[in-house]
Amino acid sequence: MSGYIRHLAIITGSSLGIGAATALLLAKSGANVVITGRNADNVSKICNECTEVSLKGLKALPVVADVTKEEDVDRLLDTTIKTFGKLDILVNNAGIGSRAPITDADYIHKLKAVFDTNLNSVIYLTHKSIQYFEKTKGNIINISSIAGIQSSGGISPYHMSKAALDMFTKCIAVDLGPKGIRVNSVNPGAIRTAIIRDSKMTEQQTQSLWDRVKSRYPVGRCGEPLDIANTVPYLASDHASFITGTIMVADGGHLAANSGGISPYHMSKAA
Ligand code: NDP
Repeated sequence: MSGYIRHLAIITGSSLGIGAATALLLAKSGANVVITGRNADNVSKICNECTEVSLKGLKALPVVADVTKEEDVDRLLDTTIKTFGKLDILVNNAGIGSRAPITDADYIHKLKAVFDTNLNSVIYLTHKSIQYFEKTKGNIINISSIAGIQSSGGISPYHMSKAALDMFTKCIAVDLGPKGIRVNSVNPGAIRTAIIRDSKMTEQQTQSLWDRVKSRYPVGRCGEPLDIANTVPYLASDHASFITGTIMVADGGHLAANSGGISPYHMSKAA
């Protein structure tokens, strides 16, 4: 593969937020894109936008599907292969957040929903895709989170799902390297999307989150979907042909600035 032009990319959760920005960027760069999500209106809207901006005037393919349903994922892959005959890039992006302190009466139910969406669906779709990647020597990019690296209170299912996803990325990169298939992860910090609005935070909690982001992120702002989308064409291209099993953090410097401990100690260990 050289670059990503003429390649076929499935981007899950591409009807909104980071996934939509990624699909638009890949379409602008000349890739064929498959737009998928549960909400048909949103899928259709982004699909039309991708067709409009496509470098080559390529028509994007809409597939309304729930990634937690195996029959939907099978249909997503079958439709893609029937339409384009191949799969070069898979961006496993669909994900949900959920406030769930361990004391929550609904904790187990929320845990299952988060794991089904953020982890189990990725494992299933990736497993089913390998047969196509063996032919194209393509690559897989998982959209994880710094929540997979750094803990916090009240959302343990989300943290655990992303930590497990990171381990999945690293382990299967080892399995698939000899087949010429690369697997990488992008781990965003806080990005201004619907996922925050949907996490049942009050308006005040949301505002306080953005204020915290501003004060704690060295770049002085929270992220936007394009900040994450911009990493994908690079990782998916041959420019990254020596990069696999990597966890690429895109968090405005947040982890570097807030890893705890005392900086002279950190410096002495790093020196
Ligand atoms: P959004 O809520 O804006 O978008 C989520 C997308 O996933 C939508 O297209 C949604 O479509 C889709 N989706 C959710 N559940 C399902 C499902 N069961 N089946 C199919 N599609 C589904 O979120 P973001 O863009 O913010 O999140 C994208 C990824 O980035 C997630 O994996 C998230 O964990 C990660 N991330 C986000 C951060 C942030 O601060 N925003 C920070 C770190 C990581 P629909 O609802 O129509 O199904």
